[in-house]
Amino acid sequence: MAFVINWRIAIVLLVTVPILFVFLVWLFVRAGRLFRGVQKQLDVLNGIVHENLTAVRLVKAFVRRKFEGERFQRAAEQLRDRTTFAFRYVEVTMPVILLLMNIGIIGVLWLGNVNINTGNATTGEVVAIINYSTRTAMALGVFSMIIMNLSRAKASSDRIFEVLESKVDEFENDKRVDDKAIVGDIRMANVSFSYNSSPNQVLRNIDLSFEPKSSVAILGATGSGKTTLMQLIARLYEPDDGQIYIDQSSIDTYPLKNYREQIGYVPQAVTLLSGTIRDVVSFGHKHADDEQIAKALQAAQIYETVIGLPEGLDTLIGQRGVNLSGGQKQRLTIARALLRKPSILLLDDSTSALDATTEMNLLKAIEAYGCTTVIVTQKVSTTKAMDQVILLNNGEIESSGTHEDLLNRSAIYREIYESQHERGIPNEKSNESPILLRLEKVKSDARSKQASR
Ligand code: ADP
Repeated sequence: MAFVINWRIAIVLLVTVPILFVFLVWLFVRAGRLFRGVQKQLDVLNGIVHENLTAVRLVKAFVRRKFEGERFQRAAEQLRDRTTFAFRYVEVTMPVILLLMNIGIIGVLWLGNVNINTGNATTGEVVAIINYSTRTAMALGVFSMIIMNLSRAKASSDRIFEVLESKVDEFENDKRVDDKAIVGDIRMANVSFSYNSSPNQVLRNIDLSFEPKSSVAILGATGSGKTTLMQLIARLYEPDDGQIYIDQSSIDTYPLKNYREQIGYVPQAVTLLSGTIRDVVSFGHKHADDEQIAKALQAAQIYETVIGLPEGLDTLIGQRGVNLSGGQKQRLTIARALLRKPSILLLDDSTSALDATTEMNLLKAIEAYGCTTVIVTQKVSTTKAMDQVILLNNGEIESSGTHEDLLNRSAIYREIYESQHERGIPNEKSNESPILLRLEKVKSDARSKQASR
């Protein structure tokens, strides 16, 4: 409109508006970068809060309260500084726009004066153009606010998309449907595996075979690959080489959902989502009735404890509920797995907190479920009760067979057995350090024998 009224005066806007436009583009890029920094720092701060809330007892036990307090303070101060710095850019926008527009208006007044004197413009035209200039300034001001909000939103959405676009393992997208029942025959042929395709193989050339409904113990030092082996059977990962067969068919011929529904997996770290004991135990089997839940609790040797609680199955566990002991929580996770009546039961060191008698009762009760049971354990008292024992060493099978076979064949197994008997561990709670010590000792003895030879 300014150009329609008088182009000789409106020409001033050709200088001010492009400068403003360039300024706004620069602002968008710069503010986007700054707000991305703010979001990242917010992540750091949230991470610290989350860590400290979940590990509050650890922080207290290690007397790290002051240290953690200072860590939080530093992160919070950085967030404050970054936010203040970013908002300074927001605050400076409006004054810069007004300054440039007012310089433009002075230009319009000056050019208007010259053109009125030469008879090329009227006073009314100059007033109209000044009016359009101020309106343009206001519009650009609002536009700059939108740009600032957009750059903040973009910084946030970039972070969200980083998560949404993270690569999902292809096999997790399995949409096939089938209700083929699994009997529980497991075979691994020459299986090797490394995390994230790194060159360090965690499992190497694993060949094993578990009969349906049999019980197998996996024994080995920390880091020997026991958990990884369990996760491969649960199909949480795919092997790099070799093949896993379930009931003589390759594991990937089963639709993932159908396969996992028939697996009872009890991971090493006890994770119970909050809710009532009924909710927690029926997590993988939503339609289970109280009778089925009671049966699973009985098998997991925790029924008496649960009915002894004032509210029984309705007892709330989790942050606000009763505080169950480690062993009790462990047994609830076993009940959760058993409730699904799995064809394959995987217990990853899930009986470590149980005394020998309870553990034996548990193993007996599991037998009645008729599933192939694979247990990671450190206790020879457990391996003795199993049909087959696999001794893993550094990602490879060192020996496999029955307890008696391994006693005859494997020096390491014999050492472990003797160490636990010497210490009377079969009748007590055990942890893995004696095994580790023994394994290390056997290896160093062998090395020194070789060296002396
Ligand atoms: P175990 O259960 O016998 O203690 P794991 O199967 O947990 O052993 O681990 C075997 C090896 O794999 C270890 O060296 C460990 O550091 C590595 N590892 C385990 N989980 C991961 C993971 N998610 N990413 C990368 N490496 C891992």
